[in-house]
Amino acid sequence: MQGDELRAKYRVERDKRLRPDGNEQYIEPKGHFASLLDDPNAVATSRDEFHDDVTVVLIGGGFAGLTAAARCKQAGIEDVRIIEGGGDVGGVWYWNRYPGAMCDTAAMVYLPLLESTGYVPTQKYVLGSEIFAYAQMVARHFGLYRNAAFSTEVTRLEWLPECARWLISTNRGDRVRAKYVVMGTGPLHRPKLPGIPGIETFSGHYFHTSRWDYAYTGGDPTGSPLSGLANKRVGVIGTGATAVQCIPHLAKSAQECFVFQRTPSSVDARNNRPIHPSEIAALGKGWQEKWLLNFATIQTGGFADDDLVKDGWTDIAGRIRRRIIEEMENNDQFTPQMIARVIEDSDNEKMNEIRARVEGIVLNTATAEALKPWYRQICKRPCFHDDYLQAYNNPRVHLVDTTMGVTRIDETGVWVGGQHYVLDCLIFASGFEVGTEYARRAGFETVGRSGRTLSEHWADGMCTMHGIHSVGFPNLFILGANQGANLLSNITHNLTEAAATVAAIIAHSESVLADEVEVTDDAERLWVDMMLEKNGAQSFLGNPDCTPGYYNNEGRGLGRRERLNSIGYPQGPVAYFKYIREWRSSGTFAGLAFRRNGGVPAP
Ligand code: NDP
Repeated sequence: MQGDELRAKYRVERDKRLRPDGNEQYIEPKGHFASLLDDPNAVATSRDEFHDDVTVVLIGGGFAGLTAAARCKQAGIEDVRIIEGGGDVGGVWYWNRYPGAMCDTAAMVYLPLLESTGYVPTQKYVLGSEIFAYAQMVARHFGLYRNAAFSTEVTRLEWLPECARWLISTNRGDRVRAKYVVMGTGPLHRPKLPGIPGIETFSGHYFHTSRWDYAYTGGDPTGSPLSGLANKRVGVIGTGATAVQCIPHLAKSAQECFVFQRTPSSVDARNNRPIHPSEIAALGKGWQEKWLLNFATIQTGGFADDDLVKDGWTDIAGRIRRRIIEEMENNDQFTPQMIARVIEDSDNEKMNEIRARVEGIVLNTATAEALKPWYRQICKRPCFHDDYLQAYNNPRVHLVDTTMGVTRIDETGVWVGGQHYVLDCLIFASGFEVGTEYARRAGFETVGRSGRTLSEHWADGMCTMHGIHSVGFPNLFILGANQGANLLSNITHNLTEAAATVAAIIAHSESVLADEVEVTDDAERLWVDMMLEKNGAQSFLGNPDCTPGYYNNEGRGLGRRERLNSIGYPQGPVAYFKYIREWRSSGTFAGLAFRRNGGVPAP
C-alpha cells in the first residue's frame, strides 16, 4: 500500500483508537494498588539517619545521577551523596528486571563512561541485568557507594535562603543540607495502570512489569524458565516495548498466555551479535565520543561518512539520505515538499517491510493481520526483537486484539466485548506516567525561593534554560532531555552531556567562592521563547496524524504546556550538544548569576 490509500488506512486506524479522556484513562498505583510500587528486590537494611551537610546531593541513582556524580568527582568535588528510592544504583535498570529486559539502543553508545571504566559490553545490545551490573561498576569505579542512601525516598526539597542550602527530607527521617542538588529523577519511571472498569476487583495475582514478581513466576532476569507459571493462565495488558521483550519468555513457560493488545508495536529485527574486546581496543582513544555524535547525527537525519552503529534506529535516516541524493542527481529541487515526500516514501517503504515481516513470521493469517502496525514508524516507540512475533506461533499464546482496549475486569479475569478470559495472573505492561506534574512523577515537591514550588513555576509547562536551570531554584540542576538535546533514541547521551555541564558549573561556582548560582529571569524567558517560536506550532512528538499514545499526548494535540514539556533545541540534538559544549567551555556561563551571601556577585 502506498500514498493516499496508506494515508487513509492510517487515519482509520488512528480514529478507531482516539478517546476523549486522553491521559485521564490511566490510574495511579495508590490506595488499593499502592503495594504494586513495593520494591521486590530491596534487602531490608537499617542505618542511622543522616543529619549533615553535603556539597552535592544527587536525587536518583540511575545514569543521570551516576554520571553527574562521576563528573563532579572528576572535577575534584569529592563530597557527593546519591539518594535513591531503589535498593541500589541503576534507576530504570534496577526496577525493570522483567525477563528479557534489554536495551534497544546499542551498548557502545547507550552505556555511559565506557572509556573511563574500561568496560567492554558483551553484545551489541545488552540485557538489563548487564546494564544494572554496569551501573554498579560505575558506582564502584567512582566511589559513589560510600555515603549513598538507598531505599530512601525524598519527601521534600526546600531552599533555605538564610544559609543558601537545600534541605532534603526523606522517608527514613534524614534531614540533609546540600549546597547543590542535581535531580536525576527520570522521565519514565512512575508506573501507571489502565483505568479499566473493575480493575480493582480482580482476585488473582497481578503486578506491573517494573516490579516483576519472580517469587510468583519463578525464573530470573537472565531468562531462566518461569517455572511458577507452568500451570497458570497468564494475561498481559499492553504490547509496548516492555511487553515485546517479556512475552517470548511468558510464551515459553505459561500454561496459557493471553496478550491483550490495543495498538500493535512495530517490531523490526534485532540482529544482535557479540562484541569482542579487540574491536573496542582497535577504535583508539576518544572512540565513544565519536560514536555518540555519529549515532545522534545519523539518527536525526544528518550526514556522516560512516554509519558506525548501523541499526534499526539509523536505518530509516539512511534511506532518506539515499533518496535525497538520488532526487538531487535527477535534478530535483531541494524543497520542503521534496523532503516531505522523501521522508514519507522512506517511511512507507520501512513500514511495509515491517508489516511484511509479520506476514513472513506469523503463521495464522488473522493473528498476523492483527499484529500489523498501521502508522508511521516514529508515531510509537519502535521495537526490535527476533522472538516476539514467533511467540504467536506457539499454540499456547493467544493474541486478543481489542483495538479499543480491554472492556472490563472482574474477579476472575478479563472481558473483551462479550468474551471472558479466566486468568490466574494479570501482568500490567501498561507503561509509565508521561505528561503528569513533575512533582507527582518525582514523588516530592521542590520549594524554592520565597516558598514558590516547582509545580507552581511549571504550572503552564516546564520553564528552564537549557532544560537544566529554573528561576527561583538556585543551586538546583535538572537532568533530562526536555528543553535540551531531546535525543529520544539514546536517553543516556542527553544525561551524560548534561552531567558534564552541571559539573563544570559547580566547579566554577566553587572556584569563585559563590554561594548561589541561578539562571536570570531574562535568560530563562529567552530560552523558553526561542524553543516555542522556533519549534513551530507542533513538536514532532505532537503529530496528530499518529495513533494515540504517550508520544502525542494520547492524540489530543499539544497545547503550550504539553509543548513545553516535550520540546527540545529547535536545531536538533547534535546542534544542542555543540552549543552546550561551547557554552560550558567558554568560562562565562552566560545566563547564570553567581552570587555570594547577601547577593554580592561572585567574580
Ligand atoms: P508503553 O507505554 O510503551 O506501553 C503500554 C502498553 O499498554 C501499550 O501497548 C498500550 O496500548 C497498552 N495499554 C494501555 N492501556 C490499555 C488498555 N486499557 N487496554 C489494553 N492495552 C492498554 O510502556 P512500556 O513499558 O512498554 O514502555 C515504556 C517505555 O519504556 C518505552 O516506550 C521505552 O521508551 C522504554 N523502554 C525501553 C526499553 C529499551 O530498550 N531501552 C525497553 C522497554 C521499555 P496503546 O499503544 O494503544 O496505548
